Amino acid sequence: MQCQTVLPGSECTFWNKNGCTFEGSSCQIIVPDCEGCERVVEGTIGNVCSVAPSPAKKWAVNICNFATHRKVEAKVVEQRINPLKASKRGGR
Ligand code: SF4
Repeated sequence: MQCQTVLPGSECTFWNKNGCTFEGSSCQIIVPDCEGCERVVEGTIGNVCSVAPSPAKKWAVNICNFATHRKVEAKVVEQRINPLKASKRGGR
């Protein structure tokens, strides 16, 4: 249904016939880490995120996985090769 408070007219999965079902009955404003993200939109309570109702939670553990301005650096995982299996493969 469409939000009628913070982002009036925007489709939102948290809005139902009883209103906003998200904790606190509202989206929360962005956190400093969100500055520069393309998903920041202006709501009736200030700048909010268009995809995550609680930006602080998105940044609580790591980089927000929806962020457009910062990405998690891909870690190259070194593959350990079992020397015994490698020698068997080499023998073929
Ligand atoms: S997608 Fe993540 S970084 Fe971007 S505004 Fe939303 S919570 Fe902030």
